[in-house]
Amino acid sequence: MDLFEYQGKQFFARYGIPVSDGEAVTDVEAAVAAADRVGYPVVVKAQVQVGGRGKAGGIKLAANADEARRYATDIIGMDIKGHTVEVVWVEHASDISEEYYASFTLDRSAKQYLGMLSAQGGVEIEDVAATDPDAIAKIHVDPAEGLSEAACRAWVEAAALNPAATEGAVDILMKLYTAYTEGDADLVEINPLILTPDGRVHALDAKVTLDDNSVFRHADYSVYDETQVRDVREEAAHEKGLQYIGLDGSVGIIANGAGLAMSTVDIVTQVGGSPANFLDIGGGANADVMAGAMEVINNDPKVRSIFINIFGGITKGEEVANGIVQALARVKIDAPIVIRLDGTNADEGRAILEPHRSDMLQIEPTMRDAARRVVELAGGVSS
Ligand code: GDP
Ligand code: MN
Repeated sequence: MDLFEYQGKQFFARYGIPVSDGEAVTDVEAAVAAADRVGYPVVVKAQVQVGGRGKAGGIKLAANADEARRYATDIIGMDIKGHTVEVVWVEHASDISEEYYASFTLDRSAKQYLGMLSAQGGVEIEDVAATDPDAIAKIHVDPAEGLSEAACRAWVEAAALNPAATEGAVDILMKLYTAYTEGDADLVEINPLILTPDGRVHALDAKVTLDDNSVFRHADYSVYDETQVRDVREEAAHEKGLQYIGLDGSVGIIANGAGLAMSTVDIVTQVGGSPANFLDIGGGANADVMAGAMEVINNDPKVRSIFINIFGGITKGEEVANGIVQALARVKIDAPIVIRLDGTNADEGRAILEPHRSDMLQIEPTMRDAARRVVELAGGVSS
């Protein structure tokens, strides 16, 4: 689960990482009261889980109460890349000499943790990686060995920060590593990590993703769960008991079995399409489940074509086909469907579907053919 900046800062503070004093509030008067308390100048920061809030006008420096009121009024309710601002974080503003980038995440292929540190912070790290990859100092950490202070110091030196920042950076990065491991995070990122004119190193932003599977070890993480930004499609699907994960593409996917559903996502991608979702309807594929799956996919405005990929096992082809036909009678589908039906009694199943064949219901013999067809119907190779 992803934390908002203010939650990330509270999380960091527990591990001793210096962050600015501030308050999360939901209305203008509370924002002004918070600003009065933390002391001017303050920064009013939109709490949305997207980057580039600054550029979007979601971060403003206020020198006095009038400005704090004006900016809080502007920012609360603002839309930033499709996210409505409901909470603002008001913190005492910092003086900045330099902006750095620091993070820990998992490098799956190396089977190790990966720390990244750059003297070029403040901007998106992807931009730094693209234009000047050498400006990012990387460190791999063996989870069994942990991060020694000596290794951390060598890493900081490799990043060539201002020498005045070395001690503070080593201290924060050791704490950030502890937060990452003991806090069961998948990602901890500070951008910018700043050096102040008086030589302090300090976290000005916080991006934290916690491992959902660790919640049993952290009773206090339930507060983060309550504020999670939910995918409306996922909520609807989970209410119907479907194994659904929302993605950003245009090809809706319905498959039976998690493995086949994943393969379907892969093959749609391989032939140049972009999946709108992962959806596993399980082994049964009866009319109720199929109709529920179709409704969820059909309510996704991005979906331009639908791939139903079924492999009959214990459930026979004709049962699946009957389920599809009955579901189609119940749900009005807006996007064309491509079906691939194989496995036990596939011929019998296809014979049942045959009379329903149309432009809106196409049948393809193989998974690859069906993938190509459904991607074509979605408008070709999409982004
Ligand atoms: P993001 O744009 O969503 O990543 O938001 P950040 O929290 O990283 O803030 C964006 C930028 O605003 C930073 O890189 C800083 O340049 C600036 N900023 C944020 N907080 C302060 C502050 O306390 N003082 C000053 N002077 N600038 C700040
Ligand atoms: Mn940032």
